[in-house]
Amino acid sequence: MIDVLVIGGGNAALCAALMAREAGASVLLLEAAPFEWRGGNSMHVRNLRCMHDAPQDVLLEAYPEEEFWQDLLKVTGGMTDEKLARLVIRASSNCRDWMRRHGVRFQASLSGTLHLSRTNAFFMGGGKALLNAYYRSAQELGVQVRYGTPVDGIELRGGRFVAARIGGERIEAKSCVLACGGFESNREWMREAWGRNERGEWPADNFLIRGTRFNQGVLLRRMMEAGADIVGDPSQSHCVAIDARAPLYDGGIVTRVDCVSLGVMLNRDAVRFYDEGEDFWPKRYAIWGRLVALQPGQIGYCVIDSKAVGRFMPPVFPGVRADTLPGLASQLGLDPASFMATISGFNAACRAGSFDHTVLDDCHTQGLAPAKSHWARPIDTPPFYGYALRPGITFTYLGLKTNEDAAVHFGGEPSDNLFVAGEMMAGNVLGKGYTAGVGMSIGTAFGRIAGTSAARAALKERSHAAA
Ligand SMILES: Cc1cc2nc3c(=O)[nH]c(=O)nc-3n(C[C@H](O)[C@H](O)[C@H](O)COP(=O)(O)OP(=O)(O)OC[C@H]3O[C@@H](n4cnc5c(N)ncnc54)[C@H](O)[C@@H]3O)c2cc1C
Repeated sequence: MIDVLVIGGGNAALCAALMAREAGASVLLLEAAPFEWRGGNSMHVRNLRCMHDAPQDVLLEAYPEEEFWQDLLKVTGGMTDEKLARLVIRASSNCRDWMRRHGVRFQASLSGTLHLSRTNAFFMGGGKALLNAYYRSAQELGVQVRYGTPVDGIELRGGRFVAARIGGERIEAKSCVLACGGFESNREWMREAWGRNERGEWPADNFLIRGTRFNQGVLLRRMMEAGADIVGDPSQSHCVAIDARAPLYDGGIVTRVDCVSLGVMLNRDAVRFYDEGEDFWPKRYAIWGRLVALQPGQIGYCVIDSKAVGRFMPPVFPGVRADTLPGLASQLGLDPASFMATISGFNAACRAGSFDHTVLDDCHTQGLAPAKSHWARPIDTPPFYGYALRPGITFTYLGLKTNEDAAVHFGGEPSDNLFVAGEMMAGNVLGKGYTAGVGMSIGTAFGRIAGTSAARAALKERSHAAA
């Protein structure tokens, strides 16, 4: 019988598999996706948020534990477990040497990447290169990997893992790590979680999924049915406004549209609905998915003029372009009269100031609801550009409750051989909100812990059997 069974094939699963193997356990990893699509959402990532007390290789200045903790506290509004959050933060300060030993390479952040050069270490070659390095290292260490193997059942006895089921096949192991992501790719479950709104719409029908199609939440559901303790709210997720032309799955980061703070955002009725200049874009980009999800038809339209061009990272799809504002309205399918009324009202409300996109400048609107607090400049210089945007779900926060050993809990009691890591438990640390790079901090910390715990449990059982 195998010692440690790891279910999932993304960052958290690989961290667990590598740690368990390094601890001397035999490891089998089951990935739902075929080889070509291996790696889940982790294939799309770019960076890891890291605590550090002084400048380090690719990280500038310092990002101490307390500041990281305060950032997390702010974005989650207190919906976080401090003990587990601090464990993640501390682990983020010393995991990079281990990652390098398994072939991961880092680079300094490039300009235009959400101003993260102090806090986040970027992966050379992105998530794909990170995963390739981990899979290569796993193979060299003798971790067995099976692709195209979606586990559909978990056999438990008294809170202990016994076996995993894949159709008619049954795989026993001494311990198990669950690292199969959230349920964001399961459109039915997303529909149920978001329900029907006051307009009779099912908002989730209009959501796009930024990452893998393989995170269907099958084992999260099975574990809930088996009575595992749960954290988080099913309607909470990381949700970004992305280009409406993005594919249903796996559009990745290039479909994000980063010019909202440089223009105005309209809904289907050509009406503004939120302050586009409330704060710096890196602090606000992750609220716009939910804001668009609450609008009629779950669609928004970002409108800029030529003054904004060159000031934001160009997305993969070019914007709709027109030389006149009514022409842009027609091309976007918006009512030109309503569109012109909104833009004229906005333009008239802009108070001249010194435009500076790198500070919270004094260009704001007056007497307009909602206000635009910073970077408000009239939309008056052709050509004009528009982007239709939809909510893009990154990952869901509903997960399994856990502790410092990454154990799955049943009725408040930790299992002694079933562990969890990554998005499947991120809700313990991230009840809501997000701060860039923390998904990988959580997955790396808990993946490593889960692998160590699972190896310990398996090796203990092995030594009992030998005695
Ligand atoms: C576009 C995009 C960009 C992102 N950028 C960043 C970033 O720069 N920094 C950051 O910190 N976070 C980022 N994130 C979030 C990040 O992806 C996650 O926090 C992290 O990768 C999660 O790792 P994971 O291993 O838990 O899940 P995943 O990487 O999603 O892995 C889940 C795995 O489980 C497998 N699986 C699912 N169900 C089953 C089953 N039943 N049986 C077997 N296998 C199964 C899947 O195929 C997949 O391999 C980004 C996400 C997206 C979508």
